[in-house]
Amino acid sequence: MEIKGKKISIIGAVRSGVGAAKLVRKSGGIPFVSDLSDEFKLKDSISKLEEEAIAFETRGHSDKVYDCELMVASPGVPSNAEVLREAGKRNIKIISELELAGSFCKGQVVAITGTNGKTTTTALCGHLFNMCGHKTYTAGNIGFAFSEIALDVKENEFVSLEVSSFQLDLIDEFKPKAAMILNITPDHLNRYENKFENYIVSKFRIYKNQDENDFLILNKDDQTITENITSRKSKIFYFSLKETLNNGCYKSEDQIIFNRESELEFAFPLNELQIKGNHNVANAMAVIITAKIFDFDNEKIKEGLRTFKGVEHRLELVREIGGVKYINDSKATNVDSVWYALQSFDEPIFLILGGQDKGNDYQRIKNLVEDKVKKIFAIGSSAEKVFNFFHSTVKVELKVSLEDVVNSVSKEAISGDVVLLSPACASFDMFDNYEHRGKVFKGAVNNL
Ligand code: ADP
Repeated sequence: MEIKGKKISIIGAVRSGVGAAKLVRKSGGIPFVSDLSDEFKLKDSISKLEEEAIAFETRGHSDKVYDCELMVASPGVPSNAEVLREAGKRNIKIISELELAGSFCKGQVVAITGTNGKTTTTALCGHLFNMCGHKTYTAGNIGFAFSEIALDVKENEFVSLEVSSFQLDLIDEFKPKAAMILNITPDHLNRYENKFENYIVSKFRIYKNQDENDFLILNKDDQTITENITSRKSKIFYFSLKETLNNGCYKSEDQIIFNRESELEFAFPLNELQIKGNHNVANAMAVIITAKIFDFDNEKIKEGLRTFKGVEHRLELVREIGGVKYINDSKATNVDSVWYALQSFDEPIFLILGGQDKGNDYQRIKNLVEDKVKKIFAIGSSAEKVFNFFHSTVKVELKVSLEDVVNSVSKEAISGDVVLLSPACASFDMFDNYEHRGKVFKGAVNNL
């Protein structure tokens, strides 16, 4: 992308926005950064922008933001945001930070999208590729912002890149060497005019520029994906927890198998995988396929799988006290991820649910709750909704804080039980974000 001498406005002044501004500056463009938040919230970013003498504004977008040839949207900015609409009306070209960084990146990009599992899979892919001896940057929502590293990545190096649907809405030429769609279930629909079709179309954009030499890795068990997949040029590999595949990865009784054209090329014992749950087997399969596509060494792939311990706040074992396991799954901000979390345990569960509701329909987990959950502790602004839905199925107790929950449950749980924070809700009613919620939970558990 030629940006020399061009005025470029960047929407969003957090990590990716600052990264994009620096990239623009380094490549000879003239960046201007604009954000809705105040100076207090943005103080770290502001000091970085000031260091580089990059112009910016806070507390809203002034008319100055439209004085540009190109507008770059940070990952958190939804594609229907007012500032983007206005820029569109003024015929300003709008791209995502993904498109900007992608156009400057010479390395091979593995782009990872899906409703759930992106971060875990991106982290695993980065870890495993590095274990295989290939320098790989982990970027997107985890690790670096893509723009921060795009100019540093060499041709023979890799980027394991987490990609959200908002960023895909605003790509033009982004062309990953390998692309994964892990799963598609309704989430964030408020940003897609409540139309699931729009969200699906958005995810599928990940392969729109791929050609015959690129690879697309898809979940065979996800009907939304298999029924809607449109024509594409890339080579497809599927993964499945349910069926044997001749060209792809699947789970047998006790192994993960990778076949290429009906030839067995790789097998790995399931019990050597450290991350819990079938959903994580699926995430691992997507990464195995990618490593096999690049013909990495089998023994090194296995070592990478054995040594990956998972990501904080995703089914993270905090501590085991008197045979009771305390699990932090604070990142479970929708009902679907709670379904996967419940599936991951055979033990009786004390489940901590609730927070800022996102229009949750708990029907999806009702049977699982009935089978596996001893008691629910309901917290946050949706505690009453949780109570109303579940009280006829299982005992539900309302609590005002996570500390309160942890103190109570430590007296009730017995050896062999699991205490699971997997709230199905956003955290903003009580916490800064899900990381904060997870840390408060871990703090309370560590104080026991
Ligand atoms: P994302 O970055 O897409 O939000 P994470 O890796 O942060 O994904 O995981 C989010 C939540 O979804 C966690 O609670 C995790 O346990 C659950 N999860 C992880 N992988 C999957 C998957 N393949 N399918 C469904 N849920 C998953």
